[in-house]
Amino acid sequence: MFGFFAAILLFLGCPREKKEDTDPQCMDAENTKISSSLASTQMNTRCGTMQVLRNHITTNPDLTSRMDTIEKQCQAFIELRKSGLFKTLDTITIPVVVHVVYNKPEENICNDQILSQITVLNQDFSKSNTDINQIPEEFSDFAADINIHFKLDSIIRVSSTREEWGINDQVKFTANGGSDVVSPEKKLNIWVCTIGGGILGYAQFPGDNLTTDGIVVSPQFFGTTGFVTDPFNKGRTTTHEVGHWLNLRHIWGDGDCSQDDMVEDTPLSDNPNFGCPTYPTIRCNSNDMTMNYMDYVDDACMHMFTKGQKDRMRAVFANDGPRASFVQNP
Ligand SMILES: [Zn+2]
Repeated sequence: MFGFFAAILLFLGCPREKKEDTDPQCMDAENTKISSSLASTQMNTRCGTMQVLRNHITTNPDLTSRMDTIEKQCQAFIELRKSGLFKTLDTITIPVVVHVVYNKPEENICNDQILSQITVLNQDFSKSNTDINQIPEEFSDFAADINIHFKLDSIIRVSSTREEWGINDQVKFTANGGSDVVSPEKKLNIWVCTIGGGILGYAQFPGDNLTTDGIVVSPQFFGTTGFVTDPFNKGRTTTHEVGHWLNLRHIWGDGDCSQDDMVEDTPLSDNPNFGCPTYPTIRCNSNDMTMNYMDYVDDACMHMFTKGQKDRMRAVFANDGPRASFVQNP
């Protein structure tokens, strides 16, 4: 009898807005480009990751020292790779949990749109993207197969009364009307919700709080089919944010010519690039690698991670790395 009542309570306690087995109808792609005034806003704030990092350091000053420790481990791993150790790196498979937190029907993106994003991640992180041949000769030898595979683990759908979520991590908590993180020590969590403020996405670096670990992307910039908006309709916002989640910095180092992205084979730069630049773009006395996923160019104009960026990302999964639990036995 008690078991019966417990089952009833459990049933009533389930959040009714979660409909994990539904697959909404795919929306048509927005057939107009983002208006030029909105596009220029978005160009300036394409990615909210560094602002999120600054906010997190303000509320959690320990984060700086944790990230310093991770940087030392990363640099040691890079040195070991140079000395010939860890020459071959096994394929890593990362389960992906997608939280769709929607207000308007079109934000409740269909399964095909989600799968199209997983396909892009798998292409971009294995150097099998079809636009790889557009890399200028100067940089073509630097392109790397990161050898990371992504597998859709589950989709969680939550309907919400909120129209915009900003970059304050509220979407990552069920208690705030969002959706709680799932197994962040073993799974990549992606929240798809309207961020607002002209921001396409943001990520959290390794070493930060596990309850907010993962990336957030607005639905119209997620995947390649359904409710997507040109020129950010090739899934590269997510590729870029997963790069941050794996400890990559922006290609220009978020500073002047003296500020490096801590990657040896990416040229120094002092600014992001936008739109679709014609090669070459010269900054800091060298040609910018504008076609790198960690720049701010349009989706169709970014094509590569470098070997140096590969080392940084793979260091995260080393035995002493911040995401080692993804590759260790359960
Ligand atoms: Zn970024």
